[in-house]
Amino acid sequence: MKKILTGMLITACALWATTIFAQATFDGERALAHIVSQVSFGPREPDNPDAKQKTISYIEQELARFTKRITIQRFNYAGLSGANLWATINGTSATDSGRIMLGAHWDTRPQADKDRDHEQRKKPISGANDGGSGVAALLELARVFALAPPPVTVDFVFFDLEDMGHIDDLPYSIGASEFVAKNPSYRPSAGIILDMVCADNLSIPREVYSQSLAGEVMDTIWTIAKQQNSTVFKDSPGIRIIDDHLAFLRAGIKVVDLIHYPFPDHWHTSADTVDKCSGDSLQQVGDVVQQFIATYNPKELFDYD
Ligand SMILES: [Zn+2]
Repeated sequence: MKKILTGMLITACALWATTIFAQATFDGERALAHIVSQVSFGPREPDNPDAKQKTISYIEQELARFTKRITIQRFNYAGLSGANLWATINGTSATDSGRIMLGAHWDTRPQADKDRDHEQRKKPISGANDGGSGVAALLELARVFALAPPPVTVDFVFFDLEDMGHIDDLPYSIGASEFVAKNPSYRPSAGIILDMVCADNLSIPREVYSQSLAGEVMDTIWTIAKQQNSTVFKDSPGIRIIDDHLAFLRAGIKVVDLIHYPFPDHWHTSADTVDKCSGDSLQQVGDVVQQFIATYNPKELFDYD
C-alpha cells in the first residue's frame, strides 16, 4: 500500500513538474490566439475608438494576471489621442543587472494603401500580422517570464500610433517617439521591437539601423537563432527600416527591430488577416527572444559605458 501511495505521489509530482515546465516555455499557438482576439475587436485605428479601447483593455487585463506594475501613458499628437502601455516584470537578480525592453506597436494602419484594389485603399487593415503579431508575442512572453522570472527585469511596452506614416503627412512611430521624450530617464540595457512576426513565410534579416547602432544585440540574437536552428532568422543584411526602434537608437539606447523583410505580400493591404499567420513562425521568434532574455548578462555580453 505504501509503495502504491509513493508511486502515485511520484507520478503526481512528475505530472505537476511537466505541467509547470511546459507552461514556462513560449507557446506559438497561445500567441496566435492573442492575434485572433485583437482582430476580433476590429481595426485598431483612430477612427475606431471602440476597437482601440477594447484592445488596450485586453492587453492590460492579460498583463494584470502577471504583474501589478502597469501604467498607461496617454498623449495627444496633431489632434490624435494615443496611449502607450508599459508593464514590468521584475528580474530575480539581487544585483542590478540592468533591464531589457520588449516593444511592439498595438495600433493598425487606417488605410490599406498598398492594396491592388483601389476600393480597399481607403479602408483600414485588419492588422493580424502588422500590429497584432508583435503584441501577441509580447503577451505570451510576459506569461512565460511571470512563471519563470529571468535575472534581468523586463519591460513590455506597447506603442500606439506607429502606423500613421504618410497619412495626412503624419510620421511613423508617433507613440514610440512620445515614449522616449516623456521618459528621458528610462535607459534599458537593450531592447527588441517585434513587428510583423507571424507570417507563414516569415523572414527576418538583419535590419540595417539595428545592425550598425546595436550590433552586439543583433549578433547575440542571431547566435541564439543559429543554435536553435531557426529558419525564420536570415543571416543576411536587410534594409534601413523606419520603425519604433529608431526613437530609441537616436537617444543612444540599443533597441533593435525584428521585422519581416522583404515585406510580405499582404503588407498594408486588406489581406493582412489571421489566416496568413503561423504558430510555428511565432514559436521560432518567441523561443529566440525568450532565450536572449533568460541568458542575458550585460556584463558579459555588452559594454555600454
Ligand atoms: Zn505597418
